[in-house]
Amino acid sequence: MQGTGQTFVIVGASLAGAKAAEALRAEGFGGRVVLFGEESRRPYERPPLSKEYLRGEKDFDAAAVHPADFYEEHDIELHTSTPVVEIDPAGRAVTLSSGERVAYDRLLLTTGAAPRHLAVDGADLDGVLYLRTVDDADRLRRGLTSEAQVAVIGAGWIGAEVAASARQLGAAVSMVELYRVPLERVLGAEVGAIYRDLHAAHGVDLHFGVGVEAITGRTSVEAVRLSDGTVLPADVVVVGVGVLPRTELAEAAGLVVDNGVVVDEHLQTSVPGIFAAGDVANAHHPRYGTRIRLEHWSAALNQGPAAARSMLGHDVVYDRTPYFFSDQYDLGMEYRGWAPDFDQVVLRGDPSSGAFLCFWLRDSQVAAAMNAGIWDAGDALEALLRAARPIDAASLADPDNDLADLADLAGPPRP
Ligand SMILES: Cc1cc2nc3c(=O)[nH]c(=O)nc-3n(C[C@H](O)[C@H](O)[C@H](O)COP(=O)(O)OP(=O)(O)OC[C@H]3O[C@@H](n4cnc5c(N)ncnc54)[C@H](O)[C@@H]3O)c2cc1C
Repeated sequence: MQGTGQTFVIVGASLAGAKAAEALRAEGFGGRVVLFGEESRRPYERPPLSKEYLRGEKDFDAAAVHPADFYEEHDIELHTSTPVVEIDPAGRAVTLSSGERVAYDRLLLTTGAAPRHLAVDGADLDGVLYLRTVDDADRLRRGLTSEAQVAVIGAGWIGAEVAASARQLGAAVSMVELYRVPLERVLGAEVGAIYRDLHAAHGVDLHFGVGVEAITGRTSVEAVRLSDGTVLPADVVVVGVGVLPRTELAEAAGLVVDNGVVVDEHLQTSVPGIFAAGDVANAHHPRYGTRIRLEHWSAALNQGPAAARSMLGHDVVYDRTPYFFSDQYDLGMEYRGWAPDFDQVVLRGDPSSGAFLCFWLRDSQVAAAMNAGIWDAGDALEALLRAARPIDAASLADPDNDLADLADLAGPPRP
């Protein structure tokens, strides 16, 4: 067994951290694996919190990363309700809130992200909720009755999914967003409009291109006042205006931080022996030649184990295609790629049918692709994303052209 006598510490007991611990054991690491988490529960996945868990269709165990006995069985020392308050890189130790110091040989930071707070009058009233943890989801769930009037502030992924779940539970829902359509920052105006129409069709009262001026109420929330003067009655307000990486520890320890903890393609930070993965990591992506901080389930799922192998000294390069998914009402989708900017959007299929593809092109090459309601296109889309040559937009749009053939035509995969 390798590493006997060594201690690998992981700070952040969620998806990335738990998957890293699992990978350390799977790779045969025989030393101590110590996983610290500030939440009271064992690691769980967050996507169900705005979907099945929020709607009461799945319980906590279905969201948990591992069964309850997994950690003991694999000799992983899981400490819940145990925040780490300091890292001492020179002394190779972390300090817990109890004051106890724990020495490490390698350290992994998977501290994730936390919701960005809304800074308007009334934002601290009872009934103004954020959604990141199971406790948040439980609190929100109690408010989502069929009599509830819910105002969702921010039509990003969390806001859009919460709005859908709230409607599915029978609540009246209004949605407020500064952009012109939901999800515009990632999908652009054209594809965002498909989601606007979806929410409109499900009876969401939409307010786009407008900000929130104040949240009003005596002790608990009663209404949301918008910058155009509209007053939306609400007894529950859900704020989904983005997240911020939890870099406090890293920053205080002197690690390089820039929109997350900066790591190289091996997921190692600026301090040798300290690694970072998941939502908190701003990782150099060799295929894109730039740093990308992903706030996606799949990045936590895959970067955790990649960082674990890197900690063991394996030559790991994290270069997976970014991937995320979203479910709203009965429209499920997967998005692959990275298109912070694009010059053309190509649709294939009719969005109103609930089964279609979208492509975001940059310099005539596919930078990102989305399959909505179609579940067997993943490999072909991945091949198209990796193809090195320009592709004809009209051929891409034509459902009669086989996607795999188009990928072949577009050329050999990028290295
Ligand atoms: C409601 C919701 C729905 C989502 N839906 C989707 C989806 O449909 N598709 C998708 O791709 N992604 C989705 N995501 C995003 C996805 O869940 C995240 O990308 C993922 O959780 C990131 O995992 P992580 O382990 O990096 O960080 P996190 O899940 O944020 O976990 C970090 C953990 O570290 C702990 N921690 C922080 N600081 C300390 C400290 N000092 N000491 C000890 N512990 C600490 C935190 O308490 C937390 O438990 C969703 C997220 C949310 C909140």
